[in-house]
Amino acid sequence: PLVAEPVPARTPSEALQRVWGYDAFRGQQAEIVDTVVAGGDAVVLMPTGGGKSLCYQVPSLVRAGTGVVISPLIALMHDQVDALEQVGVRAAYLNSSQDPDQRRDVERRLLAGELDLLYLAPERLGAATGLLQRCRIALFAIDEAHCVSSWGHDFRPEYLQLSVLHERWPDVPRIALTATATVETRAEIAERLALTDARVFVSSFDRPNIQYRIAPKNDARNQLLRLLREEHPGEAGIVYCLSRASVDKTAEWLAGQGVTALPYHAGLDARTRSLHQSRFLREDGVVMVATIAFGMGIDKPDVRFVAHLDLPKSVEGYYQETGRAGRDGLASTAWLAYGLQDVVQQRRMIAEGEGDRQRKRVQTLHLDAMLALCETVECRRQQLLAYFGEESGRCGNCDTCLSPPESFDGTVPAQKLLSTVVRLQRERGQAFGAGHLVDILLGRDNERVRKFRHDQLSTYGIGTELDDAGWRGVVRQVLAQGLLEVQGEYGVLAVTEPALAVLRGRREVRLRKEQQRERVQRSRRT
Ligand code: ADP
Ligand code: ZN
Repeated sequence: PLVAEPVPARTPSEALQRVWGYDAFRGQQAEIVDTVVAGGDAVVLMPTGGGKSLCYQVPSLVRAGTGVVISPLIALMHDQVDALEQVGVRAAYLNSSQDPDQRRDVERRLLAGELDLLYLAPERLGAATGLLQRCRIALFAIDEAHCVSSWGHDFRPEYLQLSVLHERWPDVPRIALTATATVETRAEIAERLALTDARVFVSSFDRPNIQYRIAPKNDARNQLLRLLREEHPGEAGIVYCLSRASVDKTAEWLAGQGVTALPYHAGLDARTRSLHQSRFLREDGVVMVATIAFGMGIDKPDVRFVAHLDLPKSVEGYYQETGRAGRDGLASTAWLAYGLQDVVQQRRMIAEGEGDRQRKRVQTLHLDAMLALCETVECRRQQLLAYFGEESGRCGNCDTCLSPPESFDGTVPAQKLLSTVVRLQRERGQAFGAGHLVDILLGRDNERVRKFRHDQLSTYGIGTELDDAGWRGVVRQVLAQGLLEVQGEYGVLAVTEPALAVLRGRREVRLRKEQQRERVQRSRRT
């Protein structure tokens, strides 16, 4: 312990100023802190970077006893305790990374009343219950509270046991915090943690300085390079790729184009990873090419862009990842390139992945929400915020607001595509991927068409009203809307139940007109 016996802070603002050196609370922090200091329970939904930590750290200093923080991420626990010790707060953690001696030392300090804050991994709670009953507890903070939700992507069974906190310590206030909360997750948090009577604080999830853009993927690398050169030359950013191999290749290619690009993924050795991470943090204008293993707990304020070369698996993931841009509040870009192959690949990964039917159902719902965001002709931000239960108007700072796409009645093209799939299946017992279907619709003469005599099909050449890119857009959107599904190891396409209504003319299909080139004027908004 660096500080033996600090003078306790009497009021929240005194603690904020004296310990952290900040002038004032931000947003709803003051109200949240007051609620907990007064002994009330709170559920806090605040985006990443919003300042959740102070919401329990300040009350832990003001209230008598130790604030106990349940946190699932051991690495972050370590950082938090370091940062607290640096400002003179007496903090420690208990988790599986410690040996018995270290653990005993923390326990001794806790029982002696020498800790303001104790971080605890959820799986240690059972073993620590006896210990906690022998000391004075200021509050319980449940960080990353969405881990209690089986709906979310981070479910941790140990979190279900946290309802015992309320039963064992009915008089100790509890504060649950999360940055990812759809309406469903919110309800589950309140119910499963017995926090239905808690005050709920919802901060806006809007990040107005981030410009959201989702572009059709034509030649992803060159599209990315154009973004870097024309809009963010010499600026820091993150490029997310799905696989380690594509991280390596993309970083190498960018470096060959003169960009200071470094790879980061779990397959690199620890030394390389930490070297690349510290260069990204310390040097100016480094572009980190990474899998989603990179970013959690990274606090770099001047990340000017986050680019996705592959489709994120969920809107929560997209929001978290893009949220790493522009923490300093200055204009930043969130750019995603998205194509037919992304939909095919993600649908296939779910179909072939591990997990039972329920798990796959949830993954499909997550993917569908992400696809809906990609295909929308409405304001991206409005749709993104609506996903988190927040109402808003058109934002004026996303691609669809700046350059509104047209939508059109795509029922006829959709019918042509779907009936080609149905005919191949019924008449020939065959199924194919997107490329071949487009060849048939365009009436192309190639080896495969000849081999299967597909020029004999009644739908051969009936689709000349669209070009290749146009048809790929139709396939992608029809897939995104769930009218086609991906099957088997070759990723062939088959019609779904809802497609039958389209084929019978009972359902209209609205499609987004493909924009061949990105037409977005960059607006410097802060
Ligand atoms: P979260 O946990 O919500 O992602 P943090 O608690 O890590 O966010 O806070 C994000 C950053 O904002 C931190 O650097 C923190 O010190 C800073 N911060 C939080 N509250 C305030 C405040 N009232 N005044 C100034 N800076 C703040
Ligand atoms: Zn908008």
